[in-house]
Amino acid sequence: MKTLLIADHDNQTVADATTKALTAARALGGEVDILVAGQGAQSAAEASAKLQGVAKVLLADAEAYAHRLAEPLAALVLSIAPGYDAIVAPASSAGKNLLPRIAARLDVMQVSDVTKVAGPDTFEHPIYAGNAIEVVKNPERVKVFTVRTAAFAATPADGASTPVEAVAVPVAESRATFVREEMAKSERPELGSAKVIVSGGRALGSAEKFNEVLLPLADMLGAAVGASRAAVDAGYAPNDFQVGQTGKIVAPELYIALGISGAIQHLAGMKDSKVIVAVNKDEEAPIFQVADFGLVADLFQAVPQIEAALG
Ligand SMILES: Cc1cc2nc3c(=O)[nH]c(=O)nc-3n(C[C@H](O)[C@H](O)[C@H](O)COP(=O)(O)OP(=O)(O)OC[C@H]3O[C@@H](n4cnc5c(N)ncnc54)[C@H](O)[C@@H]3O)c2cc1C
Repeated sequence: MKTLLIADHDNQTVADATTKALTAARALGGEVDILVAGQGAQSAAEASAKLQGVAKVLLADAEAYAHRLAEPLAALVLSIAPGYDAIVAPASSAGKNLLPRIAARLDVMQVSDVTKVAGPDTFEHPIYAGNAIEVVKNPERVKVFTVRTAAFAATPADGASTPVEAVAVPVAESRATFVREEMAKSERPELGSAKVIVSGGRALGSAEKFNEVLLPLADMLGAAVGASRAAVDAGYAPNDFQVGQTGKIVAPELYIALGISGAIQHLAGMKDSKVIVAVNKDEEAPIFQVADFGLVADLFQAVPQIEAALG
């Protein structure tokens, strides 16, 4: 079994998501190669080469991959796909953009959001917004799947010096062109890989209150900030803060939900957190069904008390 893992990276470092997807790829048994496609991505390739259990790192360094557009990336992956039995990527925005294209061009089905690799052709993944786990037997000649990284531990670097090989870059026609990107800059940890998340809901009432109440607590805990969709839709928090079925899927060590009811679509994004703390003034709120520690209280009174206790 030979597996190709497509890396998420920023040209310098390899993303946490890739090290977790590598754990899933290795569970297939057999060899795993990592493809690093970017521009000036030698450092990311070298970082990938240090990860445990990697057979080979393939580096495709070209302007065409500078912005990770799916069209040229798909052409590249398809040009090397014939050597592989499985093609894997993290279920990140980049992976979700790329892999269906690969699966369609190979005329095989894709399994999305794999949470467990039970064998070389058997996978578990959540369906119905995480309410059921489906076990899928995939009979395709090439297994194409995305990995829900929250379900896997990271593969550590072991200082190995796996070879980095340059791969030929195919000439690909692309009708997509890169226009611009707007990156949110934050000193806080990234939501998808944070160990602690402080998340706020509609109860915060305004963007000002959201920031006033959540940010100091998040800073004290070194936490990332999350939000419910209701809080995002109301403009209290930016889109990329959204946790849930249509937002980010997270599984931190500690998730603090403030004024979030615990709608099923929100739970789909955070219920695998190790410890869940909820503050809600309604004791019937569904968030308490998944919370390890629940406080029935007005968050505007409770949060300053928590801060005082921490400080
Ligand atoms: C297809 C689909 C996809 C969706 N995807 C997502 C998603 O990805 N993420 C997501 O979050 N939602 C998602 N939703 C929306 C979801 O159904 C809920 O509407 C949303 O999660 C509610 O957000 P909330 O808990 O902040 O607001 P509410 O449900 O209005 O809850 C607010 C809570 O705050 C409590 N409260 C009020 N005042 C205070 C106070 N002073 N102190 C303490 N507690 C207080 C209330 O008791 C209540 O429980 C989706 C919905 C659909 C249909």
